[in-house]
Amino acid sequence: MKIENYVRDIQGFPKEGILFKDITPLLNDVEARQECLSILLNSLKDQKIDKVVGAESRGFFFGMLLAQELNAGFIPVRKPNKLPYETISASYELEYGFDSLEMHTDAIKAGDRVLIHDDVLATGGTAGAVCELVEKLGGTIVQCNFLMELTFLNGRDKIKEYPIFAAISY
Ligand code: IMP
Repeated sequence: MKIENYVRDIQGFPKEGILFKDITPLLNDVEARQECLSILLNSLKDQKIDKVVGAESRGFFFGMLLAQELNAGFIPVRKPNKLPYETISASYELEYGFDSLEMHTDAIKAGDRVLIHDDVLATGGTAGAVCELVEKLGGTIVQCNFLMELTFLNGRDKIKEYPIFAAISY
């Protein structure tokens, strides 16, 4: 089973000039989803994980599956003003301007071993901001993992101090 076959290219989404990798076929197939989950879990080599952090919104899908399998807590990182409790925030650069992400202040305890998950590593801005949030609360980042890495965008450079794993590389 090749999980690549369950990711489809959408030309011009969300705007012209962008080739969007669509994971909805992967989510919609039980075997492909299981295979992908196994690949992500195997990359962790039985390391103890206390918390899985998923980035809004496509990082929630496998983030939650991973947390369940790892017997770990799940923490959603969200766009501004979506989380109801007290938050910390980290901003990151976009092509034009800045954006930011938030996490609840009580989500991580100092010393927690944290796995960060998102669907795609592109420029690395999102993952970099998520790492910053985890570190602000004193978490130890065990790995940043992704379903896909778009290697030509060099996102790794923004999170190079952490172990990185991607199930698929383009
Ligand atoms: P980055 O911050 O540039 O690394 O972009 C990563 C974020 O953008 C992730 O949260 C992804 O969900 C989203 N993203 C970027 N490119 C794609 C894509 O081709 N398909 C799905 N999501 C993408």
